Amino acid sequence: MVYSKPVVRAEEPAGSEFGDEASMVDIAGNCKRVLEGIRRAAERSGRDPRQVRLLAATKTQPVSAVRAAVEAGVRLLGENYVQEAQAKKELVGDIAEWHLIGHLQRNKARSAAELFSVIQTLDNPRLARLLDREGRECNRDVHVLVEVNLAGEQTKTGVAEEGLAPLLRDVSGLERLRVRGLMIVPPLADDPEASRPHFRRLRELRDSLNDLGLANVALDELSMGMTHDYEVAVAEGSTLVRVGTALFGPRGPSR
Ligand SMILES: *Cc1c(COP(=O)(O)O)cnc(C)c1O
Repeated sequence: MVYSKPVVRAEEPAGSEFGDEASMVDIAGNCKRVLEGIRRAAERSGRDPRQVRLLAATKTQPVSAVRAAVEAGVRLLGENYVQEAQAKKELVGDIAEWHLIGHLQRNKARSAAELFSVIQTLDNPRLARLLDREGRECNRDVHVLVEVNLAGEQTKTGVAEEGLAPLLRDVSGLERLRVRGLMIVPPLADDPEASRPHFRRLRELRDSLNDLGLANVALDELSMGMTHDYEVAVAEGSTLVRVGTALFGPRGPSR
């Protein structure tokens, strides 16, 4: 297990705006290191590294840091809050694909459908219907992943394992909703190996749910793996790792 420690040259200033000056973190170097870690993990488990994409989790990071990641070749950006994404997307633009990786409230469904290429956190049918309606009104598909909560953590969002098939059956008829995969944030643990059973179970679920053959449900993506456990996630079949700290260094206070 190789843990890619972010290289931090100096303390990042705890600024108050997304447009803050560039920090001293070597983001390009960190991107290279993480991509290298993905490649190694994929090869060790007999996977093609090109099947795994790196998404930069940019919450609380200034626009300068987001730009640095894009310049380093990252083409997927993940934001947790609709408003924060809106502000940053105006400044960074469409050069990358923006994904929502934080919980989505129903009253933000409209903006989210407009802003994001993929909403990774669908976890209830009412939200699915709102997103579908948005898609029909704008005449385009809305791509989502279903967030799964395998550990049954009360404090976390996501669908429980037993709720997955019913949710997918429920939303599969929606005209403009495209369910593209599953996403998970396993319980926090120091040991990355603690995440492995969750990643493995998510892959098994993905495969068996695909076998249901539901309309508008093609579960190609497994969004799993963060800074401390992305190599384990890649070994277990991740197609999309969401990495923040290893690219940008420690986060400032949340907004
Ligand atoms: C913040 C965040 C990440 C990235 O976490 P790191 O540990 O900093 O890599 C990934 N996924 C989600 C949903 C997040 O909120």
